[in-house]
Amino acid sequence: MVKMDCLFCKIVDGTIPASVVKQNNKVTAFNDISPQAPTHILVIPNQHFKNMGEVSESDPDLAGEILKMASQIAKEYGLDSWRININTGESAGQSVFHAHIHLLGGRVFAWPPG
Ligand code: AMP
Ligand code: ZN
Repeated sequence: MVKMDCLFCKIVDGTIPASVVKQNNKVTAFNDISPQAPTHILVIPNQHFKNMGEVSESDPDLAGEILKMASQIAKEYGLDSWRININTGESAGQSVFHAHIHLLGGRVFAWPPG
């Protein structure tokens, strides 16, 4: 279940500290260490998957749980506009290969993204 060399697995099991916002038995949310917006929270499956594509294909209910937690947090933070960003693969900007979604809010976002 825990991948020993994975940063986010270690955040889930508490070996590496993080500013955890919300956690249940399937999903963990914590503040991004390098925030790109006033609210920048990562929502991840507790179980190791390499990206969100893998989660969606092998466990669509879990993908739904991740989105649900992001929506709940957006509501709790009082965000009226927010963006969910999923980087899948290096060219799309993925740098940590444990599935995660970015919940961003608190500023105006440009479209199209860079
Ligand atoms: P991505 O580039 O989509 O793979 O996103 C990885 C995110 O993880 C980046 O936004 C990083 O700032 C963030 N990150 C890396 N290390 C940590 C950490 N120890 N705690 C919280 N966020 C982290
Ligand atoms: Zn992992």
